[in-house]
Amino acid sequence: MTQVNAYAAQSATTPLTPFNFSRRDVGAHDVQIEILYCGVCHSDIHQVRNEWGNSIFPMVPGHEIVGRITKVGAHVKKFKEGDLAGVGCFVDSCRTCPACLAGDEQYCEVGMVATYNGYEKDGKTPTYGGYSTQIVVDENYTLKVSEKLSIEGVAPLLCAGITTYSPLRHVGVGKGHKVAVLGLGGLGHMAVKFASSFGAEVTMLSGSKSKEADAKKLGADHFVLTSDKNAMKDRANYFDFILNTVSAPHDYNAYLNLLGTNGTMIVVGAPPAPAEIPAFNLIMKRRSIIGSLIGGIKETQEMLNYCADHNITSDVEVINIDYINNAYERMLKNDVKYRFVIDIASLKN
Ligand code: NAP
Ligand code: ZN
Ligand code: ZN
Repeated sequence: MTQVNAYAAQSATTPLTPFNFSRRDVGAHDVQIEILYCGVCHSDIHQVRNEWGNSIFPMVPGHEIVGRITKVGAHVKKFKEGDLAGVGCFVDSCRTCPACLAGDEQYCEVGMVATYNGYEKDGKTPTYGGYSTQIVVDENYTLKVSEKLSIEGVAPLLCAGITTYSPLRHVGVGKGHKVAVLGLGGLGHMAVKFASSFGAEVTMLSGSKSKEADAKKLGADHFVLTSDKNAMKDRANYFDFILNTVSAPHDYNAYLNLLGTNGTMIVVGAPPAPAEIPAFNLIMKRRSIIGSLIGGIKETQEMLNYCADHNITSDVEVINIDYINNAYERMLKNDVKYRFVIDIASLKN
Protein backbone atom coordinates (compact mmCIF):
# COMPACT_ATOMS: atom_id res chain seq x y z
CA MET A 1 0.00 0.00 0.00
CA THR A 2 1.19 3.52 -0.80
CA GLN A 3 -0.01 6.68 0.92
CA VAL A 4 -1.13 9.35 -1.55
CA ASN A 5 -2.13 12.99 -1.27
CA ALA A 6 -5.51 13.98 -2.63
CA TYR A 7 -8.42 16.42 -2.43
CA ALA A 8 -11.80 15.06 -1.42
CA ALA A 9 -15.37 16.09 -0.79
CA GLN A 10 -16.48 14.90 2.64
CA SER A 11 -20.15 15.67 1.95
CA ALA A 12 -22.41 17.12 -0.75
CA THR A 13 -22.44 20.54 0.88
CA THR A 14 -18.82 21.15 1.87
CA PRO A 15 -15.90 22.32 -0.30
CA LEU A 16 -13.14 19.94 -1.37
CA THR A 17 -10.26 19.78 1.15
CA PRO A 18 -6.93 17.90 1.49
CA PHE A 19 -7.26 14.14 2.11
CA ASN A 20 -4.89 11.17 2.41
CA PHE A 21 -5.56 7.52 1.64
CA SER A 22 -3.65 4.45 0.45
CA ARG A 23 -3.56 2.84 -2.98
CA ARG A 24 -3.26 -0.92 -3.39
CA ASP A 25 0.08 -2.61 -4.13
CA VAL A 26 0.80 -3.25 -7.79
CA GLY A 27 -0.72 -6.60 -8.80
CA ALA A 28 0.56 -8.83 -11.60
CA HIS A 29 -1.60 -7.09 -14.24
CA ASP A 30 -1.46 -3.59 -12.74
CA VAL A 31 0.45 -0.45 -13.55
CA GLN A 32 1.20 2.29 -11.03
CA ILE A 33 0.89 5.79 -12.46
CA GLU A 34 2.33 9.00 -11.04
CA ILE A 35 -0.45 11.42 -11.98
CA LEU A 36 0.73 14.61 -13.72
CA TYR A 37 -2.53 16.27 -14.81
CA CYS A 38 -6.21 15.66 -14.18
CA GLY A 39 -9.06 17.40 -16.02
CA VAL A 40 -12.12 18.77 -14.24
CA CYS A 41 -15.37 17.44 -15.73
CA HIS A 42 -18.84 18.79 -14.97
CA SER A 43 -19.68 15.23 -13.84
CA ASP A 44 -17.26 15.86 -10.95
CA ILE A 45 -19.53 18.71 -9.79
CA HIS A 46 -22.74 16.67 -10.27
CA GLN A 47 -21.30 13.86 -8.13
CA VAL A 48 -19.52 15.97 -5.48
CA ARG A 49 -22.85 17.74 -4.90
CA ASN A 50 -24.82 14.46 -5.07
CA GLU A 51 -27.00 15.81 -7.89
CA TRP A 52 -27.43 12.33 -9.37
CA GLY A 53 -28.32 10.87 -5.94
CA ASN A 54 -25.61 8.15 -5.96
CA SER A 55 -22.69 9.76 -4.18
CA ILE A 56 -20.31 7.93 -1.86
CA PHE A 57 -18.27 10.06 0.60
CA PRO A 58 -15.47 10.81 1.09
CA MET A 59 -15.14 11.31 -2.68
CA VAL A 60 -11.89 11.95 -4.57
CA PRO A 61 -13.13 13.03 -8.02
CA GLY A 62 -11.23 13.04 -11.31
CA HIS A 63 -11.51 10.81 -14.38
CA GLU A 64 -9.39 12.63 -16.94
CA ILE A 65 -6.01 11.34 -15.80
CA VAL A 66 -2.62 11.49 -17.50
CA GLY A 67 0.64 10.49 -15.87
CA ARG A 68 3.81 8.44 -16.07
CA ILE A 69 4.14 4.77 -15.23
CA THR A 70 6.34 4.25 -12.18
CA LYS A 71 5.89 0.48 -11.69
CA VAL A 72 4.53 -2.44 -13.70
CA GLY A 73 3.26 -5.81 -12.48
CA ALA A 74 4.97 -9.09 -13.41
CA HIS A 75 2.54 -9.95 -16.24
CA VAL A 76 2.12 -6.47 -17.75
CA LYS A 77 2.67 -6.49 -21.52
CA LYS A 78 1.43 -3.13 -22.86
CA PHE A 79 3.51 -0.77 -20.72
CA LYS A 80 6.95 -0.26 -19.24
CA GLU A 81 8.23 2.06 -16.55
CA GLY A 82 8.49 5.66 -17.81
CA ASP A 83 5.67 5.40 -20.39
CA LEU A 84 2.98 8.07 -20.51
CA ALA A 85 -0.45 6.63 -19.73
CA GLY A 86 -4.05 7.72 -19.38
CA VAL A 87 -7.03 6.62 -17.30
CA GLY A 88 -10.61 7.62 -18.07
CA CYS A 89 -13.99 7.10 -16.42
CA PHE A 90 -13.73 3.40 -15.49
CA VAL A 91 -10.99 1.12 -14.21
CA ASP A 92 -12.57 -2.33 -14.62
CA SER A 93 -15.69 -4.19 -15.79
CA CYS A 94 -16.94 -7.80 -15.78
CA ARG A 95 -15.02 -8.64 -19.01
CA THR A 96 -17.47 -11.41 -20.00
CA CYS A 97 -20.88 -9.85 -20.76
CA PRO A 98 -21.88 -9.09 -24.38
CA ALA A 99 -21.12 -5.36 -23.92
CA CYS A 100 -17.62 -6.04 -22.53
CA LEU A 101 -16.92 -8.61 -25.26
CA ALA A 102 -18.00 -6.04 -27.86
CA GLY A 103 -15.53 -3.50 -26.44
CA ASP A 104 -18.34 -1.38 -24.97
CA GLU A 105 -17.21 -1.82 -21.36
CA GLN A 106 -18.97 1.43 -20.43
CA TYR A 107 -22.27 -0.43 -20.93
CA CYS A 108 -21.14 -3.50 -18.93
CA GLU A 109 -24.24 -5.40 -17.86
CA VAL A 110 -22.81 -6.13 -14.42
CA GLY A 111 -21.70 -2.50 -14.11
CA MET A 112 -18.36 -0.90 -14.91
CA VAL A 113 -16.08 -0.02 -12.01
CA ALA A 114 -16.13 3.79 -12.04
CA THR A 115 -12.75 5.49 -11.54
CA TYR A 116 -14.25 7.25 -8.51
CA ASN A 117 -17.58 7.25 -6.68
CA GLY A 118 -17.79 3.49 -7.12
CA TYR A 119 -16.56 0.23 -5.62
CA GLU A 120 -13.92 -2.19 -6.86
CA LYS A 121 -15.20 -5.58 -8.03
CA ASP A 122 -15.12 -6.81 -4.41
CA GLY A 123 -18.15 -4.53 -3.93
CA LYS A 124 -16.72 -2.83 -0.85
CA THR A 125 -13.41 -1.06 -1.59
CA PRO A 126 -14.24 2.52 -2.66
CA THR A 127 -12.56 3.85 -5.80
CA TYR A 128 -10.79 7.20 -5.66
CA GLY A 129 -10.06 9.32 -8.73
CA GLY A 130 -7.44 11.56 -10.21
CA TYR A 131 -7.38 14.56 -7.86
CA SER A 132 -4.54 12.55 -6.29
CA THR A 133 -0.84 11.94 -6.75
CA GLN A 134 -0.90 8.28 -7.80
CA ILE A 135 -3.22 5.55 -9.08
CA VAL A 136 -2.94 1.78 -9.61
CA VAL A 137 -4.97 0.40 -12.53
CA ASP A 138 -5.18 -2.89 -14.47
CA GLU A 139 -3.23 -2.45 -17.71
CA ASN A 140 -6.30 -3.48 -19.74
CA TYR A 141 -8.10 -0.36 -18.53
CA THR A 142 -5.11 1.95 -19.06
CA LEU A 143 -4.54 3.91 -22.28
CA LYS A 144 -1.34 4.64 -24.16
CA VAL A 145 -0.61 8.37 -24.50
CA SER A 146 1.55 9.85 -27.25
CA GLU A 147 4.62 11.90 -26.30
CA LYS A 148 3.80 14.20 -29.26
CA LEU A 149 1.01 16.26 -27.65
CA SER A 150 0.92 18.59 -24.62
CA ILE A 151 -0.02 16.29 -21.77
CA GLU A 152 -2.21 18.85 -19.99
CA GLY A 153 -4.19 19.16 -23.23
CA VAL A 154 -4.48 15.37 -23.50
CA ALA A 155 -5.97 14.81 -20.02
CA PRO A 156 -9.51 16.04 -20.98
CA LEU A 157 -9.55 13.67 -23.96
CA LEU A 158 -10.03 10.80 -21.48
CA CYS A 159 -13.61 11.94 -20.82
CA ALA A 160 -14.63 15.07 -22.78
CA GLY A 161 -12.78 13.74 -25.83
CA ILE A 162 -14.14 10.20 -25.97
CA THR A 163 -17.67 11.27 -24.91
CA THR A 164 -17.96 13.42 -28.03
CA TYR A 165 -15.82 11.34 -30.43
CA SER A 166 -17.75 8.11 -29.78
CA PRO A 167 -21.31 9.23 -30.68
CA LEU A 168 -20.12 11.29 -33.66
CA ARG A 169 -18.42 8.12 -35.00
CA HIS A 170 -21.38 5.92 -34.04
CA VAL A 171 -23.81 7.94 -36.18
CA GLY A 172 -21.20 8.35 -38.92
CA VAL A 173 -20.81 12.14 -38.94
CA GLY A 174 -18.82 13.32 -41.96
CA LYS A 175 -18.79 15.45 -45.08
CA GLY A 176 -22.23 16.67 -46.13
CA HIS A 177 -23.72 16.54 -42.61
CA LYS A 178 -25.01 19.62 -40.82
CA VAL A 179 -24.07 19.21 -37.18
CA ALA A 180 -24.95 21.50 -34.29
CA VAL A 181 -23.14 21.39 -30.96
CA LEU A 182 -25.22 22.70 -28.06
CA GLY A 183 -23.23 24.20 -25.14
CA LEU A 184 -19.65 25.40 -25.42
CA GLY A 185 -17.88 23.95 -22.39
CA GLY A 186 -15.48 21.03 -21.96
CA LEU A 187 -17.49 18.52 -24.03
CA GLY A 188 -18.79 21.14 -26.47
CA HIS A 189 -15.38 22.43 -27.51
CA MET A 190 -14.13 18.89 -28.20
CA ALA A 191 -17.31 18.14 -30.17
CA VAL A 192 -16.68 21.17 -32.39
CA LYS A 193 -13.09 20.06 -33.00
CA PHE A 194 -14.07 16.47 -33.88
CA ALA A 195 -17.15 17.26 -36.01
CA SER A 196 -15.16 19.80 -37.97
CA SER A 197 -12.21 17.41 -38.33
CA PHE A 198 -14.61 14.71 -39.66
CA GLY A 199 -15.68 17.14 -42.43
CA ALA A 200 -19.16 18.22 -41.26
CA GLU A 201 -20.60 21.74 -41.44
CA VAL A 202 -20.58 22.72 -37.76
CA THR A 203 -22.83 25.23 -36.00
CA MET A 204 -22.25 26.24 -32.40
CA LEU A 205 -25.47 26.78 -30.42
CA SER A 206 -24.51 28.75 -27.33
CA GLY A 207 -26.11 30.94 -24.71
CA SER A 208 -22.89 32.94 -24.36
CA LYS A 209 -22.37 35.66 -26.97
CA SER A 210 -18.81 36.13 -25.67
CA LYS A 211 -17.85 32.66 -27.00
CA GLU A 212 -18.60 33.41 -30.69
CA ALA A 213 -15.04 34.19 -31.80
CA ASP A 214 -13.66 31.17 -29.92
CA ALA A 215 -16.27 28.84 -31.44
CA LYS A 216 -15.09 29.84 -34.91
CA LYS A 217 -11.42 29.39 -33.93
CA LEU A 218 -12.26 25.90 -32.64
CA GLY A 219 -13.67 25.02 -36.07
CA ALA A 220 -17.35 26.05 -36.08
CA ASP A 221 -18.59 27.42 -39.42
CA HIS A 222 -21.53 29.22 -37.81
CA PHE A 223 -22.54 30.53 -34.40
CA VAL A 224 -26.13 30.86 -33.22
CA LEU A 225 -26.92 32.64 -29.97
CA THR A 226 -29.71 30.52 -28.50
CA SER A 227 -31.47 33.56 -26.97
CA ASP A 228 -31.74 35.18 -30.44
CA LYS A 229 -35.25 34.13 -31.49
CA ASN A 230 -34.81 35.15 -35.15
CA ALA A 231 -31.52 33.30 -35.55
CA MET A 232 -33.11 30.19 -33.99
CA LYS A 233 -36.10 30.48 -36.35
CA ASP A 234 -33.75 30.71 -39.33
CA ARG A 235 -32.26 27.36 -38.38
CA ALA A 236 -35.59 25.52 -37.91
CA ASN A 237 -35.63 22.02 -39.52
CA TYR A 238 -32.00 22.48 -40.57
CA PHE A 239 -29.68 20.05 -38.82
CA ASP A 240 -28.95 16.35 -39.31
CA PHE A 241 -27.52 16.05 -35.80
CA ILE A 242 -27.47 18.05 -32.60
CA LEU A 243 -24.94 16.99 -29.97
CA ASN A 244 -26.45 18.19 -26.71
CA THR A 245 -23.79 18.77 -24.02
CA VAL A 246 -25.85 20.94 -21.67
CA SER A 247 -25.26 20.26 -17.97
CA ALA A 248 -28.32 22.04 -16.52
CA PRO A 249 -32.05 21.37 -16.95
CA HIS A 250 -33.28 23.02 -20.18
CA ASP A 251 -36.08 22.91 -22.73
CA TYR A 252 -35.15 20.18 -25.27
CA ASN A 253 -38.01 21.17 -27.56
CA ALA A 254 -36.50 24.52 -28.54
CA TYR A 255 -33.58 22.57 -29.99
CA LEU A 256 -35.48 19.55 -31.38
CA ASN A 257 -37.26 22.08 -33.65
CA LEU A 258 -33.91 22.74 -35.33
CA LEU A 259 -33.64 19.13 -36.57
CA GLY A 260 -34.73 18.30 -40.12
CA THR A 261 -36.63 15.15 -41.14
CA ASN A 262 -34.83 12.07 -39.76
CA GLY A 263 -32.66 14.36 -37.62
CA THR A 264 -31.12 13.03 -34.41
CA MET A 265 -30.40 14.70 -31.11
CA ILE A 266 -27.52 12.96 -29.32
CA VAL A 267 -27.76 13.59 -25.59
CA VAL A 268 -24.49 13.45 -23.68
CA GLY A 269 -25.14 16.19 -21.12
CA ALA A 270 -26.54 14.75 -17.90
CA PRO A 271 -28.71 17.30 -16.08
CA PRO A 272 -30.15 15.98 -12.82
CA ALA A 273 -33.85 16.61 -13.69
CA PRO A 274 -35.93 14.84 -16.39
CA ALA A 275 -37.08 16.71 -19.51
CA GLU A 276 -40.51 16.90 -21.13
CA ILE A 277 -40.68 15.85 -24.80
CA PRO A 278 -44.03 16.16 -26.66
CA ALA A 279 -44.53 13.15 -28.99
CA PHE A 280 -45.48 15.44 -31.87
CA ASN A 281 -42.05 17.06 -31.86
CA LEU A 282 -40.61 13.65 -32.77
CA ILE A 283 -43.25 12.00 -34.94
CA MET A 284 -43.95 14.86 -37.35
CA LYS A 285 -40.40 14.68 -38.71
CA ARG A 286 -39.32 11.16 -37.69
CA ARG A 287 -36.80 12.78 -35.35
CA SER A 288 -34.98 10.73 -32.76
CA ILE A 289 -33.21 11.30 -29.49
CA ILE A 290 -30.37 8.99 -28.53
CA GLY A 291 -27.98 8.98 -25.59
CA SER A 292 -24.33 8.05 -25.36
CA LEU A 293 -21.99 7.28 -22.46
CA ILE A 294 -18.22 7.93 -22.78
CA GLY A 295 -16.65 5.12 -24.90
CA GLY A 296 -14.98 1.72 -24.57
CA ILE A 297 -11.26 1.16 -24.08
CA LYS A 298 -10.57 0.22 -27.73
CA GLU A 299 -12.37 3.28 -29.05
CA THR A 300 -10.74 5.55 -26.46
CA GLN A 301 -7.34 4.36 -27.71
CA GLU A 302 -8.48 4.94 -31.30
CA MET A 303 -9.56 8.48 -30.33
CA LEU A 304 -6.22 9.20 -28.61
CA ASN A 305 -4.35 7.96 -31.68
CA TYR A 306 -6.60 10.06 -33.94
CA CYS A 307 -5.81 13.13 -31.81
CA ALA A 308 -2.05 12.44 -31.98
CA ASP A 309 -2.25 12.04 -35.78
CA HIS A 310 -4.37 15.20 -36.24
CA ASN A 311 -2.75 17.30 -33.52
CA ILE A 312 -5.98 17.66 -31.52
CA THR A 313 -5.90 18.54 -27.81
CA SER A 314 -8.21 20.29 -25.39
CA ASP A 315 -7.92 24.05 -24.78
CA VAL A 316 -7.12 24.20 -21.10
CA GLU A 317 -6.67 26.53 -18.14
CA VAL A 318 -4.17 24.85 -15.83
CA ILE A 319 -4.87 25.36 -12.14
CA ASN A 320 -3.38 24.38 -8.79
CA ILE A 321 -5.44 22.04 -6.64
CA ASP A 322 -6.25 24.78 -4.10
CA TYR A 323 -8.22 26.61 -6.84
CA ILE A 324 -10.59 23.66 -7.39
CA ASN A 325 -13.58 25.06 -5.48
CA ASN A 326 -13.31 28.35 -7.42
CA ALA A 327 -13.05 26.39 -10.68
CA TYR A 328 -16.36 24.63 -9.85
CA GLU A 329 -18.06 27.99 -9.22
CA ARG A 330 -16.77 29.35 -12.52
CA MET A 331 -17.98 26.27 -14.43
CA LEU A 332 -21.43 26.76 -12.93
CA LYS A 333 -21.39 30.27 -14.44
CA ASN A 334 -20.34 28.85 -17.86
CA ASP A 335 -16.98 30.56 -17.36
CA VAL A 336 -14.42 28.00 -18.50
CA LYS A 337 -12.19 28.13 -21.60
CA TYR A 338 -12.64 25.30 -22.13
CA ARG A 339 -11.43 22.81 -19.55
CA PHE A 340 -9.81 23.30 -16.16
CA VAL A 341 -6.91 20.90 -15.69
CA ILE A 342 -5.23 20.40 -12.32
CA ASP A 343 -1.43 20.42 -12.22
CA ILE A 344 -0.98 17.53 -9.77
CA ALA A 345 2.49 18.84 -8.81
CA SER A 346 0.49 21.28 -6.64
CA LEU A 347 -0.65 18.30 -4.52
CA LYS A 348 2.80 16.91 -3.86
CA ASN A 349 3.96 18.83 -0.76
P1 NAP B 1 -19.22 22.42 -18.84
O1 NAP B 1 -17.80 22.53 -19.25
O2 NAP B 1 -19.66 23.05 -17.58
O3 NAP B 1 -20.11 22.97 -20.09
C1 NAP B 1 -21.50 22.94 -20.11
C2 NAP B 1 -22.01 24.03 -21.08
O4 NAP B 1 -23.43 23.90 -21.21
C3 NAP B 1 -21.81 25.45 -20.58
O5 NAP B 1 -20.54 25.97 -20.83
C4 NAP B 1 -22.90 26.22 -21.33
O6 NAP B 1 -22.45 26.54 -22.65
C5 NAP B 1 -24.01 25.18 -21.46
N1 NAP B 1 -25.09 25.40 -20.47
C6 NAP B 1 -24.99 25.40 -19.12
N2 NAP B 1 -26.18 25.62 -18.56
C7 NAP B 1 -27.07 25.76 -19.58
C8 NAP B 1 -28.47 25.97 -19.67
N3 NAP B 1 -29.22 26.12 -18.54
N4 NAP B 1 -29.07 26.04 -20.89
C9 NAP B 1 -28.33 25.91 -22.01
N5 NAP B 1 -26.98 25.70 -21.99
C10 NAP B 1 -26.37 25.63 -20.79
O7 NAP B 1 -19.65 20.90 -18.72
P2 NAP B 1 -19.01 19.58 -19.41
O8 NAP B 1 -17.89 19.08 -18.56
O9 NAP B 1 -18.81 19.83 -20.83
O10 NAP B 1 -20.20 18.53 -19.20
C11 NAP B 1 -21.47 18.75 -19.79
C12 NAP B 1 -22.47 17.71 -19.34
O11 NAP B 1 -22.11 16.43 -19.89
C13 NAP B 1 -22.53 17.49 -17.82
O12 NAP B 1 -23.89 17.27 -17.46
C14 NAP B 1 -21.72 16.22 -17.61
O13 NAP B 1 -22.09 15.52 -16.44
C15 NAP B 1 -22.10 15.46 -18.84
N6 NAP B 1 -21.16 14.39 -19.23
C16 NAP B 1 -21.68 13.28 -19.80
C17 NAP B 1 -20.85 12.27 -20.24
C18 NAP B 1 -21.41 11.06 -20.92
O14 NAP B 1 -20.74 10.05 -21.00
N7 NAP B 1 -22.60 11.15 -21.48
C19 NAP B 1 -19.46 12.38 -20.05
C20 NAP B 1 -18.96 13.55 -19.49
C21 NAP B 1 -19.81 14.56 -19.07
P3 NAP B 1 -22.76 27.96 -23.34
O15 NAP B 1 -22.07 28.98 -22.50
O16 NAP B 1 -22.18 27.78 -24.69
O17 NAP B 1 -24.25 28.13 -23.38
ZN1 ZN C 1 -16.36 13.30 -17.30
ZN1 ZN D 1 -19.42 -6.58 -18.65
